[in-house]
Amino acid sequence: MYNFNFHSPNTIEEAINIYNGSEEPKFLAGGMTLLASMKQRLIAPSDLIDLRNIKDLSEISSKENHITIGSLCTHSEVSNNVIIKNKIKNLAKLANGIGDPAVRKMGTIGGSIANSDPAADWPAAILALKANIKTNNRIILNRDLFIGMFETSLEENEIITSIEIQVPDFFDYIKFPNPASRYAIVGVAIAKYDSNVIVTVSGASHKPFIADALSESLSKNFSSNIPLKTISLDELNEDIHASAEYRANLIDVLTKKIINNN
Ligand SMILES: Cc1cc2nc3c(=O)[nH]c(=O)nc-3n(C[C@H](O)[C@H](O)[C@H](O)COP(=O)(O)OP(=O)(O)OC[C@H]3O[C@@H](n4cnc5c(N)ncnc54)[C@H](O)[C@@H]3O)c2cc1C
Repeated sequence: MYNFNFHSPNTIEEAINIYNGSEEPKFLAGGMTLLASMKQRLIAPSDLIDLRNIKDLSEISSKENHITIGSLCTHSEVSNNVIIKNKIKNLAKLANGIGDPAVRKMGTIGGSIANSDPAADWPAAILALKANIKTNNRIILNRDLFIGMFETSLEENEIITSIEIQVPDFFDYIKFPNPASRYAIVGVAIAKYDSNVIVTVSGASHKPFIADALSESLSKNFSSNIPLKTISLDELNEDIHASAEYRANLIDVLTKKIINNN
């Protein structure tokens, strides 16, 4: 790891000022991806700006049919939170299925979303749910955030402060995990608001995506009798873990499993 300056601001304003006055800064959440990348010398930030002392970023609250999750909440905090368990219990389940206990203790929802790993679990859930991503200077609609592999529409000096989610009538997420890392080889999230169903997929492409045909047919008939192979193989990854055909089949299997568990 190369040398760097470490900062621990108490407010968003302070964090942004340090960012704007530094050469090649990076915001730090739990460090689960960032510190590993630095150790491997894939990146060498001049300054690390730790966001963990900014109090407001670690709160979880609810108002009417919305919940707000602070970006610095760890996966473990989300999975153990009473509001989350009561309002969207399968979000708590999702958080509890991420990595291992050490990763869940340090990794954050904001870091996961900002990192936009196509095999990560949070992005698929956030994309399926009616969710807005709040930053220090704007509100980003979920569909506008994930642009590509490890790429979002966030500005360089923009901090995700919270994620606001409308409580759905139904939500679930099931993944076929890589046995070592627990990242999704394929993950499927389904959110239902009245008859409107959104199905999203993680792990199968260069970014999480909405499965349009599946969403449309489940909006008409929420049944496990779904049309099969609705996703073009050209859209799907092929790597040492699984072929595109295998991933396409997993999307169908996991979708049916979610509906049958419902
Ligand atoms: C062994 C291992 C297994 C894992 N398994 C899974 C898994 O099964 N499923 C899964 O979904 N994930 C998995 N992860 C990812 C992990 O859960 C973290 O979510 C992810 O690594 C991001 O970590 P972090 O929150 O500590 O962010 P950091 O590593 O601190 O930061 C990541 C990036 O996001 C930026 N950033 C962080 N917070 C903010 C913010 N609030 N605003 C703007 N930018 C920000 C940083 O500048 C950096 O570029 C795994 C990670 C490891 C190391």
